[in-house]
Amino acid sequence: MIKEASFFDQKSSLTDTSSLRAKRLFSLADHQKHHKRNQGGRPIKELIEKLERNHGLSKEEYIRLLSGLDGEARTLLAEKATVLRKRHYGNDIYIRGLIEFTSFCKNDCLYCGLRASNKNAQRYRLSKEEILDCCQQGHELGFRTFVLQGGEDPHYTDEILVDITKTIKKDFPDCAITLSLGERSRESLAALREAGADRYLLRHETANKKHYELLHPKGMSFEKRMQQLWDMKELGYQIGCGFMVGSPGQSTECLADDLVFVQRLKPHMVGIGPFIPHKDTPFRAEPQGDLDLTLALLGIIRLILPQALIPSTTALGTIDPWGREKGVLAGANVVMPNLSPVGVRKKYMLYDNKICTGEEAAECKHCLHGRMQRIGCGIAVSRGDPAGYRLEEAALAD
Ligand code: SF4
Repeated sequence: MIKEASFFDQKSSLTDTSSLRAKRLFSLADHQKHHKRNQGGRPIKELIEKLERNHGLSKEEYIRLLSGLDGEARTLLAEKATVLRKRHYGNDIYIRGLIEFTSFCKNDCLYCGLRASNKNAQRYRLSKEEILDCCQQGHELGFRTFVLQGGEDPHYTDEILVDITKTIKKDFPDCAITLSLGERSRESLAALREAGADRYLLRHETANKKHYELLHPKGMSFEKRMQQLWDMKELGYQIGCGFMVGSPGQSTECLADDLVFVQRLKPHMVGIGPFIPHKDTPFRAEPQGDLDLTLALLGIIRLILPQALIPSTTALGTIDPWGREKGVLAGANVVMPNLSPVGVRKKYMLYDNKICTGEEAAECKHCLHGRMQRIGCGIAVSRGDPAGYRLEEAALAD
């Protein structure tokens, strides 16, 4: 069933089915862990309430909050995040059609299966026609946002990408285009925006310079990455940043830096997911990120940015069979079914055991539709702009 946008009645938030399910899922998770009781007692509850009120905390407060998370605190975060999600988006979950169009990459990020030095990676590129076929199929299935994602592949020059972007906009004028192409020059970003790209996702990965340098090879610049996010905002994109939870070397302080950065940047989208190792990278033996911590961070981000678009990622679904449902119940409101041709899916392996690599696009959408329905949500057919975005644009134009 495709649901129309509905306005959330705040009073029903604590008794409706998805909130109850949130409580159940979180309490199940609690039994599996031995958190110190009371670390998340009164002071942590007060911090969460302060965050809810002010949509921000200091770095020290984030460190205290993250250090004191227990089951009770995580449940409270999920409940408050759900109230905000519903206030702005009702029970609608937005879908983005993900088109992974190139697995070539010139970079060598230490955590990524597509890194240039991974000689075992299988490489492919989709032609313009293949990308348009994905869009056509997606449009018929009800997708109104296409996410063009790939490694940093010099084959796709500005000229090629501008042409692809313009053609998608011409053929599918009711759709938004999101680009996720890594780092590009300001000129390139401006040309793509001019061609019709609406949104740009660039995970900053970590807002801590030392940590960034641990995750990336020499030659990649922390400052450049962060600057691009500000540039994209200036150029009028709806922007998305994001980070991995549990990446090697990540401390609580690093996560607090991420939260302060998100609070300052105020992106329209925030994509976070657990770190999952890839067997052909230097981090092959590192442990994966923690599910509960990822869910708590989704809730915290919803409290910082109540209107943000927050995906419940494939990586969450990879580390837990109900990961995407839990992500939504923790505060997320976007899912990204794969529209890439089935023949190439297994070649786009950012991390090991990635799910949804064998199904057709229709199956993927159907599966996610069922999953969202089971937690009381519905897939919306719309571009899925952030709540208030049109108002924001209008205000800028005045
Ligand atoms: S994370 Fe992105 S830029 Fe880095 S190696 Fe992987 S695909 Fe390339």
